[in-house]
Amino acid sequence: MKIYNTAERKKTEFKPIRDKKVGIYSCGPTVYWNQHLGNMYAYLSWDVLIRTLKYLGFETKWVMNITDVGHLTSDGDTGEDKMEKGAKKEGLTVWEVAKKYEGQFMESVRLLNITNPDVICRATEHISDQIELAKRIEANGYAYMTDVGLRFDTGKFADYGKFANLRLEQMADSGRLDADPKKKNQADFLLWIVNQPNHIMQWDSPWGRGFPGWHIECTAMSTRYLGEEFDIHTGGIDHIPVHHTNEIAQGYGAFGHQTARYWMHNAWVVGKGGQKMSKSLGNVFTAQELAEMGINPLAYRYLFLTTHYRKGMEFSLESLAAARKPYERLKQLMADWPEGGEIDADFSKRFVELISDDLMMPEVVALVWEVTRSNLSSEDKRSTILEMDRVLGLDLERPEEAVSGDVVELANARWAVKKKGDWSEADRLRKLIQEKGYIIEDRADGFKLKRDQTVKVSEKGETNEGR
Ligand SMILES: [Zn+2]
Repeated sequence: MKIYNTAERKKTEFKPIRDKKVGIYSCGPTVYWNQHLGNMYAYLSWDVLIRTLKYLGFETKWVMNITDVGHLTSDGDTGEDKMEKGAKKEGLTVWEVAKKYEGQFMESVRLLNITNPDVICRATEHISDQIELAKRIEANGYAYMTDVGLRFDTGKFADYGKFANLRLEQMADSGRLDADPKKKNQADFLLWIVNQPNHIMQWDSPWGRGFPGWHIECTAMSTRYLGEEFDIHTGGIDHIPVHHTNEIAQGYGAFGHQTARYWMHNAWVVGKGGQKMSKSLGNVFTAQELAEMGINPLAYRYLFLTTHYRKGMEFSLESLAAARKPYERLKQLMADWPEGGEIDADFSKRFVELISDDLMMPEVVALVWEVTRSNLSSEDKRSTILEMDRVLGLDLERPEEAVSGDVVELANARWAVKKKGDWSEADRLRKLIQEKGYIIEDRADGFKLKRDQTVKVSEKGETNEGR
């Protein structure tokens, strides 16, 4: 299998450290707000990676963190705290905010058919691991104390800017805590922060009462669950210049070597024409909102699969509607075709080649359609495509959900009032049915319910800018 390793800036043959056992760590969400479909692109990408590794016979251990500790707003641990900002907005405690949005994230994972990570680890539950790691870095001579906290001394690590091709001489202070007169090098980042009495989450440490810097949690938890050296570390491309650069520095400071062998990064989802994802522009939705609109969230997964994780994609309700049609068509074909066929060896071979080449999913989707048009028997087509679905994760075997009970009840009630000639009540009920995502068509002897194919914009929710 080949994967693109950011550290080498090229596709490279993947060789696990421990034979067929593969350890993967993914930077997870900061749980202060809803994770929208754009945010979920990363987790869909790494789900496909996990499914591919498993398909190819590797045994995977997938670890993902939940950033539930208040680290500060920007990547450089400066500015206002995201968790505290979220709590203030909703009148909840920071702990309640974290719990609420972790729940929303895990529900999105389920709706998008993302494999459950083997380990989900919360930063607040690993404070002592983070302290131990910072102590180790300090004992090795890679850290020093200022009035703001314990800082990593990037001057001690000659390759600091190498991973991201950073031009260190051009780095500027990015906020309040960064303007630290005792800082030795511009890039020196905080391992532990002290003297912030207004910060809500605080713990005792050898450096005083305070809280960890953001970067230390990922190095602490990845090595805690996967060992000091593991196979793959994933994250968004925005993590390259700061978060992952600092993680690599922490690995050297603590263990004398890089923690991960391969670093994989997903590109971003943007709105139509490259615009920012923003609720005010009407291009931000959660998986839950899709479900409420009567759209199977897996239609979004299909849309994701038509793009490559390193290219990202443009998202709009139009692009989603365009993906929904072929997705539902595929499900229909699976339902129509008989069971009991055989997996075609040629298609299967091409499939394995594509997934083994840095996850060429758009080509796999094209291959699926090639199977549908091939001269294989219907049952063989079905079996061949369902085999590929083990990696695609589109749940193609399950027929599209039947119309839910409450919609059927409304439709029956409408039919009854219509027969009595109460047209205004019939019209009111028809609108209710439409709001639930269905169109009702009248026949001589009754009605037919159909899923509404035109996508409607939900009015709910607020802006979810940033990470
Ligand atoms: Zn991370």
